[in-house]
Amino acid sequence: MTTATIDRVERLLRTGADGPAAPGLDAHLAVHGPLTIPRKDDRNWSHAIWAEVAAAGLTGRGGGGFPAAAKWDAVTKSARRPLVVVNAMEGEPASAKDRTLLAWSPHLVLDGAEVAAALCGAREIIVCVADDRDPGARAVERAIAERGSARRGSAGRGIAISVARPPARYVTGEESALVSWLDQRDARPALRIDKSTPLRVGRRPVLLHNTETLAQVALIARHGAAWFRQMGTPEAPGTTLVTVSGAVRAPGVIEVALGTPVDELIARVGTTGPIGGLLLGGYGGAWLDPARMAVPFAPGPLAAAGATLGVGIVVVLPTSSCGIAETARIARYMAGESAGQCGPCVFGLPAVAEDLELLASGRAKADVLARIEDRCGSIEGRGACRHPDGVVRMIRSALAVFGADARDHASGRPCAAHGAPTILQFPSAPSAPLAAMAPSAVRSAW
Ligand code: SF4
Repeated sequence: MTTATIDRVERLLRTGADGPAAPGLDAHLAVHGPLTIPRKDDRNWSHAIWAEVAAAGLTGRGGGGFPAAAKWDAVTKSARRPLVVVNAMEGEPASAKDRTLLAWSPHLVLDGAEVAAALCGAREIIVCVADDRDPGARAVERAIAERGSARRGSAGRGIAISVARPPARYVTGEESALVSWLDQRDARPALRIDKSTPLRVGRRPVLLHNTETLAQVALIARHGAAWFRQMGTPEAPGTTLVTVSGAVRAPGVIEVALGTPVDELIARVGTTGPIGGLLLGGYGGAWLDPARMAVPFAPGPLAAAGATLGVGIVVVLPTSSCGIAETARIARYMAGESAGQCGPCVFGLPAVAEDLELLASGRAKADVLARIEDRCGSIEGRGACRHPDGVVRMIRSALAVFGADARDHASGRPCAAHGAPTILQFPSAPSAPLAAMAPSAVRSAW
């Protein structure tokens, strides 16, 4: 699932005259045009860019949905120069947008990182690509070298850009876990009461953005807020990348305007048969009933439908698959991906995964549905990060969308599809235990 399927909307995945991808600097500039960033700190320029991004209403595309300009506010208040971190970890198995963007247009991501660095006075950018994603890391390294030899971009402004390779794992991409790793500690999420306070590496505040967010910043810096708002809805402006997989003819990454109805989005990639359910947002997202497929793909309408945009994922479940069995597989995977430091993850997730496995196979006791709900209630809201909450949301949505199936399974009558092969994506190798995840060498000066 690494092939980009190009949709009618082409901003981030815009094509050039010479072919579909534009990874080289000259091709990138031919496609997107020049971008002027001042060589020295320039308050007028910084204020103008901040105002454009704020007016654009750009929100983080890494799952949090936090306004990008508000993040900049937090770090620029600090007396120390911030560090800009590009989060290209993409720990979500059903997502391919980060790797697609890095392969397709690495310079767009670097442009956005440089805009963010220049705006907040940073002198260093670290692009974090998981240690099992060599093609993405190589694409960024080539782009950095190309900018250096052309004396364009960061090389001309004294901003150092490097690539770090944190361990691949679902929770490593969580921003506090990633910053912890960069700060020479284990890649474990931290309990953060006040998320408006910036994370720190050493004493430097960290400005951390997802790859897509920064690519959007690069476009807004070129074309402005009004252009950005020409697509999307007033509440959810712009476009977004969506990874579509499962029972579709052309799985891959497409770019759509926010607010595009989910059924229209799916029609663009084509389905292979009747749809039994849709997993939106990722493995910590939520199942959606196919009867609600006309819902706009935007945070507000999805939340009202009990779903979530997450990192832009749509998995189409065919009617020939079992939603309960697939939910059990996700729950088992997510139980194994926790950072292993909070009770709800260490004890709660494996227990609920086992209940779901028994339910899927039709071997559970009659009270299994009540027990699953009990467990979900005792897990929810009790972890240091949102990992277990996402799993609980996904499980509860499954029991609602596949409710009739769940009751049949609980009665010892599992559906015929419960033994069918999974349509979901899981990493082929199990994640390394966290004890082996101490950082090795992150090239930096702190
Ligand atoms: S809630 Fe789970 S994933 Fe999050 S920090 Fe605690 S153990 Fe780790």
